[in-house]
Amino acid sequence: MNPTTARWLFVVAIILASAGPARMATAHPWHRHGSRATAPEASDRRDDAPASAVNPPPVVPRFRLTATGKPDRAATDIAAAFAPFSKRGAITTRSDDRSFYVESSGVPEHPLMVGIKAWQQQVPLPQKYVGDNAWRIPLEPVPAATPASTRNRFLRGAIALAVNGVPIFNPLNNRGEDAFLIGELDEYGGHCGRADDYHYHIAPVHLEKQVGKGMPIAYALDGYPIYGYDEPDGSPVKGLDAFGGHEDAAGNYHYHATKTYPYLNGGFHGEVTERDGQVDPQPRAEPLRAALPPLRGAKIVGFTAPSPTSRLLTYEVGGRQGTVAYALGQDGSVTFTYTDPSGRTTTETAKPRGGRGGPGGGGRPPRREVGPPPRPTDRSPPEPIGGRDKPAARPNAARNAGSGAATLAVRSPAIGADRMLPSEYTCDGAGVSPPIEWEAGPEGTKSYALVLWHEAPDQTKSYWVIHGIPATITVLPKAARGVGVMGLNDKRRPEYDPPCSRGPGLKTYHVTVYALSATPQLPATAVDREALLAAVEGITLADGTLTFSYERGAKP
Ligand SMILES: [Zn+2]
Ligand SMILES: [Zn+2]
Repeated sequence: MNPTTARWLFVVAIILASAGPARMATAHPWHRHGSRATAPEASDRRDDAPASAVNPPPVVPRFRLTATGKPDRAATDIAAAFAPFSKRGAITTRSDDRSFYVESSGVPEHPLMVGIKAWQQQVPLPQKYVGDNAWRIPLEPVPAATPASTRNRFLRGAIALAVNGVPIFNPLNNRGEDAFLIGELDEYGGHCGRADDYHYHIAPVHLEKQVGKGMPIAYALDGYPIYGYDEPDGSPVKGLDAFGGHEDAAGNYHYHATKTYPYLNGGFHGEVTERDGQVDPQPRAEPLRAALPPLRGAKIVGFTAPSPTSRLLTYEVGGRQGTVAYALGQDGSVTFTYTDPSGRTTTETAKPRGGRGGPGGGGRPPRREVGPPPRPTDRSPPEPIGGRDKPAARPNAARNAGSGAATLAVRSPAIGADRMLPSEYTCDGAGVSPPIEWEAGPEGTKSYALVLWHEAPDQTKSYWVIHGIPATITVLPKAARGVGVMGLNDKRRPEYDPPCSRGPGLKTYHVTVYALSATPQLPATAVDREALLAAVEGITLADGTLTFSYERGAKP
């Protein structure tokens, strides 16, 4: 039996075993957050009987003095955080002078996949995050001279590692969409990438049940811990910086989970190396089969283990069910049986490439294959399966598909986690234009243009058109005036026309920003959305769309 199969079996065993009440780890008394006066002693560790009674501690406690004279407990602290999972063999940990290493399959023990409403047809396969391909966390985080935000960067690969060995990716995709809000995630905040690699996109606060309150639930890849919604001592979290972190009373930095964006570290307080849009180095996931397109309208309703080495995923689309059944072979191959909602069944056996399936096989794989392909990231825009359906109501997406334009992250500080437009920006309120921000366009961007539109059943409505926004500007404040040149809305007026639906129900609106390589050739007057879109075609280097909703009379 190869190690992958062994690990898979073990994970299954754990799933079965954990059907009963799980033994909860208690908060470790020696990890006292924010009180240097009660700094732990080495002997405290022995009070933590469960940690050493089952297995020897994964690492030998060490003390070093940092420049600030603080005892550095990183290795033991990190080991303790991962201990509930390493003790029962779900993950393996080790450390050297500089790093803490975590080996895992990336497949968690909890139920998964159920609840995903935007599904890319990927399923969880155990990955070989082992040996040279293990996760790596710096033992001594170094505050970065210029801390890097993850708003527009690090859109590929992991930005953190959960204490159960599951990677955590950026909550935003390369179009600035929030994976949680657009329904891509299961009930535990995860889904699978293009290599069938499971990962979270939000902080796995559910792990607090295993690790106990007061322990980190994850580590950012810069080495700083990520705690849950509360301080380790149970008190409310106060004074988080833009990255969702802060220093405790002892001057130690950590991040917190948040219920809205950024959900976890929204950047790196500590030094990390960025290469090809991701933190480097980091393990690679190994794709066994070609990535599939998103399955429009599908929702995952079941994920079970018919046998220790097989899985059955059930989805619903258009009121009918389809399944993906798959079984792990001894040689690392996986045999898939797809049954689509019409009852048609196809099978496919996927084998690991390059004979790395066996024990001890192979050296370090090429780094460029780390994670998903460069673009799109692990998520691609919704597409009809097999290209049979007509793209519905996504004119801009359809336009983009042929243009080869890159994507631009667009967001608004006024649009909250519920993706609702506050009434202030509609005819029910002051009717001023919302603040809009976007990431800087690719090199060669000469200007930006922006449109706010709504796809009605019979037509596209246009509310706001701006062009000639200087390349130096990536932020429009609320009620923006004098930035760029205002085009005409559907009322033929050069201004923001606040949404003011006459029909009932929730209406969805889109703001699309275009990064342009040249000045668009526009008519001297009457530049409306149509004219602008015609003019930006061929000179669009990148574009991105922010989508939000408003329902009149729903709420003040
Ligand atoms: Zn993902
Ligand atoms: Zn805190």
